[in-house]
Amino acid sequence: MQTKYIDIHSHLNLKQFDSDREEVIQKLKDENVSTITVGVDYESSLKAIELADKHDNLFACIGLHPSDVFVEEFNYEKMLDLALQKKVVAIGECGLDYFRENNESFKSKQKEIFVLHIKLAIESKKPLMIHGRPSKGTMDAYVDILDILESYKKDNSDLMANFHFFSGDLNTAQRIIKLGFTLSFDGPITFSNDYDEVIKMIPIESIMAETDSPLVAPAPYRGKRGEPQMVKEVVKKIAEIKGLNLEETLNIINHNVKRVFDI
Ligand SMILES: [Zn+2]
Repeated sequence: MQTKYIDIHSHLNLKQFDSDREEVIQKLKDENVSTITVGVDYESSLKAIELADKHDNLFACIGLHPSDVFVEEFNYEKMLDLALQKKVVAIGECGLDYFRENNESFKSKQKEIFVLHIKLAIESKKPLMIHGRPSKGTMDAYVDILDILESYKKDNSDLMANFHFFSGDLNTAQRIIKLGFTLSFDGPITFSNDYDEVIKMIPIESIMAETDSPLVAPAPYRGKRGEPQMVKEVVKKIAEIKGLNLEETLNIINHNVKRVFDI
């Protein structure tokens, strides 16, 4: 049997898959690909759970995206109900996004909601799926996320977090790893050299692969809608940058996924 690939971050719950969601999921089953479907608000979190309950190869992640903290009221009790569901393997995506907007009230609201996600993760004993996006030319959002996480990790040594779609620098990556957390990489590593240094320098034991579908498909699918089976190209590229063979890389990455998300 083909070795299993796991795309740890995709959005099959979003409208871009409304017309052919079941076919896409069938394709994943045929190719032995699993994925974590990530919620960005309450409705899409519910949808992620509904899909995960229906399909063995799908898992769910529930939360409110940092860009949407003023769009939707975060209800802790309702989110906790979701967090405790069996196929929910992570809390998020949550974190701080200073890319589009960078004013103080937005930042403080994002921090407030991020802390609630951390509490959810501690209460449900599930890892955080972190979205961090700094303002242009800085690492500001990562610095703030790590300051907050560090303060919670002190009293909650089991707290676990994965930095999804990592695009930070080597210093940031090393700070993440020092806390015992992990990073995941996406399509852009297949067509940009910007990520090579970080991937080369950090241990493979801290790395996972994802697509963030339907966003940014990897080469050779650029410009198409991203789909979770394309994670194979991301794993292939990680192997190439690390100078490891594909099978070995895949085994270690799958082991990392098992350790963090228990899939
Ligand atoms: Zn996402």
